[in-house]
Amino acid sequence: MRGVRGEPVVPQLARVTVTLPPVDRAALVATRRDLHQHPELGFEEQRTSTLIAERLRQLGYAVRTAVGKTGVLAQRDGAAGRCVLLRADMDALPVEEANDVPYRSKHPGRMHACGHDGHVAIGLEVARRLHAAYLPGSLKLAFQPAEEISYGAEAMIRDGALDGPTVDAAFGIHLWNDLPTGTIGVMPGAVMASVDEFEITILGRGGHAAAPHQTTDPVLIAAHIVTGLQSLVSRRRNPFEEGVVSVTQLNAGHAFNVIPGRAELRGTVRTFGGQFFEHAPRLVEQTTQGIAAAFGATAEVRYRRLTAPLVNDERMTLLMTGVARNIVGRERVIAGVRTMGGEDMSFFLAKVPGTFAFVGSAPPGKPASPHHSPTFDIDEEALVIGAELLTRTVVEYLESGR
Ligand SMILES: [Zn+2]
Ligand SMILES: [Zn+2]
Repeated sequence: MRGVRGEPVVPQLARVTVTLPPVDRAALVATRRDLHQHPELGFEEQRTSTLIAERLRQLGYAVRTAVGKTGVLAQRDGAAGRCVLLRADMDALPVEEANDVPYRSKHPGRMHACGHDGHVAIGLEVARRLHAAYLPGSLKLAFQPAEEISYGAEAMIRDGALDGPTVDAAFGIHLWNDLPTGTIGVMPGAVMASVDEFEITILGRGGHAAAPHQTTDPVLIAAHIVTGLQSLVSRRRNPFEEGVVSVTQLNAGHAFNVIPGRAELRGTVRTFGGQFFEHAPRLVEQTTQGIAAAFGATAEVRYRRLTAPLVNDERMTLLMTGVARNIVGRERVIAGVRTMGGEDMSFFLAKVPGTFAFVGSAPPGKPASPHHSPTFDIDEEALVIGAELLTRTVVEYLESGR
């Protein structure tokens, strides 16, 4: 979307003619709390997907289940026009809830600690409102499993979520406790990081702690590898490129007086793309092998790419920014919100243009617990804003294509 001089223009919403029923706040809260009490981990979302499929069928959508194992895909075909996809993730985390609330998780060791319960509630409310309206195009709703383990989006795409009709644009949101309720963070470009995982095994030679010269100590080698991997960020990365390396697990040994024969490390590399993203697998391998060899040990490196950076399309971001400004006001739409966290919505946005926005969900004036923490909770007022944002984005996108 460009102005006469080629500068980006935020679209005006004057042409929106679709009439929408008002947001049902009570239904949003009730659905979110119901889901919150019954959290399910990635690819185990049986109750959640059954509930979603039943609600969508009642509304009159054509519903496919088992799309990407436990995913649900709902479709409403328009006579003409383009096809827009909304994506809501639905999995919970292996976290024990520490909140004392009436809607506390009923399942020990599992919790909706990232807000995906809210995403599903929003998705269902958007589905209800849009089904009641005339739409100049087709709509798909993808309720996606297993975002937290990064495999759900790929699984849904493999099972045809973007085909028949072909999806032209995709939108999604994350409820975001780093922002106060009433604000929306949206910007073009990379806003969430690539996620790579590495696992390293160091094979040394065990022996007596009092006779290290008879051993090849993998604990010492592991310590050097941790330092070496940190040096990738400080010495091998262009400082103008964002990058994080975190070693998060280190297992070795079982006794104070025995040098073990092996050590295992695990960790993650995060980037917004660029050279460090390209070279990270090789750098981790070389650093590990070089250090292990220097100490006379061998090492095995398993390196996996989980998600690519999430990149928002410029045109679609302008469209969503216009919608967001209409809902919360120009000054409450914030550019520059990015995170080194990952999001497998990136798989959808690598295939079709679209945008992923952060909807503020921290109660204003109060400190909010971070995502994935046992005291995570959201300000439920944010559900209303999320539902408005996605509903009106769909309408604006389909209307603007005529
Ligand atoms: Zn999460
Ligand atoms: Zn999440």
